[in-house]
Amino acid sequence: MTIPFIEPFRIKVVEKVKMTTKEERQMALVKAHLNLFNVPGEDVYIDLLTDSGTNAMSDEQWAGMMRGDESYAGAKSFYRFEKAVQEILGFEYVLPTHQGRAAEGMLFSSLVKKGQSVPNNRHFDTTQANLLVLGANPVDFTVPEGEDSTIDLPFKGNMDLEKLKEFIQAVGVENIPLGMLTITNNSAAGQPVSMDNIRQTAEIYHSYGIPFFLDACRFAENAWFIKIRDPKYANTPVKDIVLEMCSYADGCTMSAKKDALVNIGGFIAFRDPELKQKIAQNLIVHEGFLTYGGLAGRDLEAIAVGLHEGIDEDYLNYREAHTRYLGKVLVEAGLPVYMPTGGHAVYVDGGKALPHIPPSQFPAVALANALYLAGGVRTVEIGSLMFEHLDPQAGKPVYAPLELLRFAIPRRVYTRSHLDYIGESAFECMKEAELIRGLRVKWAPPVLRHFMAQLEEV
Ligand SMILES: *Cc1c(COP(=O)(O)O)cnc(C)c1O
Repeated sequence: MTIPFIEPFRIKVVEKVKMTTKEERQMALVKAHLNLFNVPGEDVYIDLLTDSGTNAMSDEQWAGMMRGDESYAGAKSFYRFEKAVQEILGFEYVLPTHQGRAAEGMLFSSLVKKGQSVPNNRHFDTTQANLLVLGANPVDFTVPEGEDSTIDLPFKGNMDLEKLKEFIQAVGVENIPLGMLTITNNSAAGQPVSMDNIRQTAEIYHSYGIPFFLDACRFAENAWFIKIRDPKYANTPVKDIVLEMCSYADGCTMSAKKDALVNIGGFIAFRDPELKQKIAQNLIVHEGFLTYGGLAGRDLEAIAVGLHEGIDEDYLNYREAHTRYLGKVLVEAGLPVYMPTGGHAVYVDGGKALPHIPPSQFPAVALANALYLAGGVRTVEIGSLMFEHLDPQAGKPVYAPLELLRFAIPRRVYTRSHLDYIGESAFECMKEAELIRGLRVKWAPPVLRHFMAQLEEV
């Protein structure tokens, strides 16, 4: 049998989606000032804007929602949640938060002082922002291969260990209150980090006495990549790979909206009881009491179940193959796809797809809009509309290193025929690629402009 992959679940509840015509989509896009963030979800047929919080929950998770204990303090649901985190990640202490960025905020505001630096393979935008608001300095050391969309290597999300060491020596340990590593490396095309690299990163941090935290949002996908790409782990159960990955760290921050397969939630986990005490104060002020941290008991219950389902090997096998299949379908449609495909998303080089549009005219946004018009598929630009900034010395704009278009895949939501349909839409839109026009900003707010920008065709 040559079936590319098969869903290890069947469908019990369905959600109707609206089918739209090209004319209707044209109108929706004009009303949205050519920015897909402004298009109502209802007018989108396949929504690949993000994999965050867009997961489909299982029957067991919904059953857990009914079991949710809403006691203010010491709810049964909290203890089930705590036990799942302890069993799966191996950290003794855990504090729930309403989502990942709150976990980061709590951790950083307890440990990081103004002017200090926090290294990472690549900070996600929320960890970066949480450090910047404290007046701290987020620094990134992804290996150089991570910036190359064409070489097919197994662990392009790795930390550049030499650069990390040099940096620590240059700024001094007293200026580095903690070190991080993001698995998988979301901002570097969802590429995984190898077990050797996790261990060596930990060794470097620990040799300088620096506490080491994982940004563990996609820990299960990362563990699966270690299993299928590192021959040493081919026969190791994912559950043991996860425990080994975490064994090197002092704790983690987590957005449960990713690999815990829920729609909302997060947590901070750690081994040090004193640190827990320190963060607990902060948590009560900002998120809520220690046993609910901004979540309902039912949410904690869904996370507890979802953490177990997220490391199920049949699920992970399907998840990786599903994402890879979308990559293949897009290659066949003629799009330049970032290789290899990541865990949660497929990235397309929009600059290469539309070489007649310069970075100053946002080729990946133009491609996203064309794809929406062609088939009602919503994707997101990770390029110069998001990252362009002014170089104050040269007085010239600096564009993003790559004009990427991200196809993020919600977990357990879309079937293979949805993916084939995305391929058809991409093919349609590439047939007349040279007619796609560049864009300019008509209006935009000064920060995080991509969310609200109003655009027009050049
Ligand atoms: C999503 C994400 C976060 C932030 O989590 P939220 O739940 O969206 O606040 C942090 N780090 C990484 C790598 C992420 O993907």
